Amino acid sequence: MQLVNLKDEQQKVSFTEAVKTGLGRNQGVFFPTDLTRLDNVDALLDLPFAERSAQILAHLIGDELPKDTLTEMVARAFDFPVKLAKVDEKNYCLELFHGPTLAFKDFGGRFMAECIGLFNHGERVTILTATSGDTGAAVAHAFYNKPHVDVVILYPEGKISLAQQKLFTTLGGNIHCYAVEGSFDDCQSLVKQAFLDDEVKQKLGLNSANSINISRLVAQVCYYFEALAQLPKGERGDVHISVPSGNFGNVCAAMIASIIGLPVSKLSAVTNQNDTVPRFIASGQWSPNATIESLSNAMDVSKPNNWPRVQSMLDSGQFEQHDFYSRCVSEQRTQDVMKEVAARGYVAEPHTAIAHEGLTQDKASNSTGIFLATAHPAKFKESVEQVLGQHIKLPKVLQDALEKTCLAQPMTADYEQLKAAIFDKLL
Ligand SMILES: *Cc1c(COP(=O)(O)O)cnc(C)c1O
Repeated sequence: MQLVNLKDEQQKVSFTEAVKTGLGRNQGVFFPTDLTRLDNVDALLDLPFAERSAQILAHLIGDELPKDTLTEMVARAFDFPVKLAKVDEKNYCLELFHGPTLAFKDFGGRFMAECIGLFNHGERVTILTATSGDTGAAVAHAFYNKPHVDVVILYPEGKISLAQQKLFTTLGGNIHCYAVEGSFDDCQSLVKQAFLDDEVKQKLGLNSANSINISRLVAQVCYYFEALAQLPKGERGDVHISVPSGNFGNVCAAMIASIIGLPVSKLSAVTNQNDTVPRFIASGQWSPNATIESLSNAMDVSKPNNWPRVQSMLDSGQFEQHDFYSRCVSEQRTQDVMKEVAARGYVAEPHTAIAHEGLTQDKASNSTGIFLATAHPAKFKESVEQVLGQHIKLPKVLQDALEKTCLAQPMTADYEQLKAAIFDKLL
């Protein structure tokens, strides 16, 4: 797989290099130069998830990874199910929350950990990442106790749910957490600053686990194929997928899936009030506002890192612009949808409800709709219980995490303070 830096076309790298460096020169993200179509999609859809996923990843990544190695990596990374639940006549929910940290980020986090483990040959690695809620837990669990790896996680203090926070701040060991006084975008810019700092990069062997990292994106392509595989054959003809979007990594993966041959032509990327992208699509003006806190906090992002990738696929015509929908959903509407969907017997947390609303607004009535459930309702227990007035049972992993002590250190959104703290801890 060859990738190009979208901010500097001179910089071309292999998959291995892109995984190891994360971000390119000028803070540019890497994107595959060629996305060729799979020629056997129907046959692929008949295969079991792990086997099919290994084939899709082999197609995307090419011969940089031996096929057998890749098959083993995928089997370890994707060792939990994906479920497609029928919610009403025309709509299905793709449940991506059956992994160890109850959100879709387990797919990318775990595959990335496999890749880093393979590429780093015992050299020291420090994974530095900002989390809007769910990346932290997925990455922390994926790398927990892995030799030669330290993980540093920055999260916006008080702006993520207790369940989200406790799933990573209680691990200890090689997982180091900082509660930053500020927003997710502040955390994201601290991470970007660290990547511009050669001293930090060299001393720590820095890598990012944000959805900037291409290994996470390619992993996510796989479950879109699984969605179609679980759909009854008669309903695969005209499919519209709705993705709740924050950093726009997940919808980027959906677009890649479509380009390499998944029979899905229409995509909705739905945001909460942090609506930089929907406003950009409507007006052509890129003007991020200050980040606003919402019920769907994992999407409280106003400067989505993956947008340049999505934009490149739209600009090149690889994905039709008129088949890409983007809208925002208000807090009030999010709660109303949670209630409406619950009345039909399905409990959706706020991000999932936002995805559902994308189908209600954008989908043609005859198409089959698939909306993504990106997190388990228990991860947003407080808001789900408050909105629905019904008790949510906690899965065991969450119960256990909630009983443990938070080990995160408080920090202001100041780069020098962060640098001093991580040097002190890791050198
Ligand atoms: C991260 C996250 C999102 C947003 O995904 P992006 O790839 O950043 O657009 C949506 N829902 C949940 C629950 C998340 O954790």
